[in-house]
Amino acid sequence: MIDAGGYRYEKTTSIFVLEGSRKAAILDTGSRSSAALILGGLREMKIDPSRVRYLLVSHRHTDHAGGAGPLLNDLPNSVACGHRYTIETLRDPAKINAAVAAAFGQYGEPMEPITDQSRLMALEPGQAIDLGDLEVEAVHTAGHTSDHYCFYEGKNKLLFCGDAAGLLGPTTLSTTPTTFPPSFKYGPYLSSLQKLLRYDVETVAFAHFGAVSGEDARQIIHEGIATLEEWREIAEKEQRDPDALLEKLQERHWARLEVFPPQFRGVAFSMLARGLLNGLPSPGD
Ligand SMILES: [Zn+2]
Repeated sequence: MIDAGGYRYEKTTSIFVLEGSRKAAILDTGSRSSAALILGGLREMKIDPSRVRYLLVSHRHTDHAGGAGPLLNDLPNSVACGHRYTIETLRDPAKINAAVAAAFGQYGEPMEPITDQSRLMALEPGQAIDLGDLEVEAVHTAGHTSDHYCFYEGKNKLLFCGDAAGLLGPTTLSTTPTTFPPSFKYGPYLSSLQKLLRYDVETVAFAHFGAVSGEDARQIIHEGIATLEEWREIAEKEQRDPDALLEKLQERHWARLEVFPPQFRGVAFSMLARGLLNGLPSPGD
């Protein structure tokens, strides 16, 4: 695991490296400024940059896809891989850059377009990525965004969840659902978590921040489902009133969102509350 920085702070974004007998893969690429930290991490792990073949991007958000452009320059044999919508965004990030600037202000980092098509590879749902003695499966897990993939490596039973299973509070061992607007959709998010329970996991790795191993690994996915359902219940109880929902979520779950510094946490909660309301099924559904 490498601390990829992001949001201008440490310990917010984690990326993971899988080294197979023939090739290596990087799981997520962080933000644009993460590239230097990732290259430093590879040096520390004594991984030859020429062995890195795949940059597996979980989804189109700039704190996951933004490092791909600069990393391609420094990892000469690599291609950036993801859902075809992720690939479209890597090619032309104008829309996502505008959205990030509006939502995150100084905390967001725009990403650069990748113009060389030969360095981009779209992955089909369920596609296997061969690293030699390791194989990684792209698990389509819509909900946080429509293009989201988790990556599962069966030999080590490692499941990299990106943003699909929430934001991990590493010290509280709890999660915060990633209900950011405008892409969050309640139904697909819940089905994706249920899909993840079908995998035999020893380690569940998060993009924000860290990983959970052993008995807690499966538990953290169950916890993610329970928290999501709790958030929906709160929203219904407060009759989907945005201010009341925000107040209740902050009151109950402020401490969990430790991945964001306190000065940014309020902004994050207001986005999460708005996105939750936006992504809930219509009443009566
Ligand atoms: Zn995201």
